[in-house]
Amino acid sequence: MKVDWHHWVWNSYNVPKHSFIAWMLMLGKLKTRERLKAAGVVSDDRCVLCFAETETSNHVFFNCYRSKRVCEHIMLWMGIRMGNRETIYTSWKKWGRQCRSRNRQKAYYAVQTAMVYHLWMYRNYAYWNNVVRNPEIIVKEIKQDIKHRMQSCVTLKWNREDRNWLSNIV
Ligand SMILES: [Zn+2]
Repeated sequence: MKVDWHHWVWNSYNVPKHSFIAWMLMLGKLKTRERLKAAGVVSDDRCVLCFAETETSNHVFFNCYRSKRVCEHIMLWMGIRMGNRETIYTSWKKWGRQCRSRNRQKAYYAVQTAMVYHLWMYRNYAYWNNVVRNPEIIVKEIKQDIKHRMQSCVTLKWNREDRNWLSNIV
């Protein structure tokens, strides 16, 4: 069955590897420690970013205070207010409403997909290296990826308003 997050996850402006991780998340297939513990792979199911709560996908996206900081920054960058209990569902709906133009909406989705990917890599890095990186670094990486990607997505079809908007964010 086609569900509406497909527009967000498989949007053509997304970096393909970002889409793949976002797709796994929406299917509930990311191997969080909660799932690894249930499968008997690990004995500790605490989040590797904060060591305070169970690592569920809701926790990583975006209840964990570290991922929340990344999300907050990125949403602010895009001019969207982050709610107190932002989840992947509430946030993609908000991002989807930023539809002053089709190009811009696609750009917003690409940013959100990049954020999902980088938060999961952030978590993986902590998981494999026992080092929790600074959330500011993750924000920088997301912005870099988006700047790169958007440069290749802008075409002659983009109108002046959209181009101006893009030049203000990159
Ligand atoms: Zn956490």
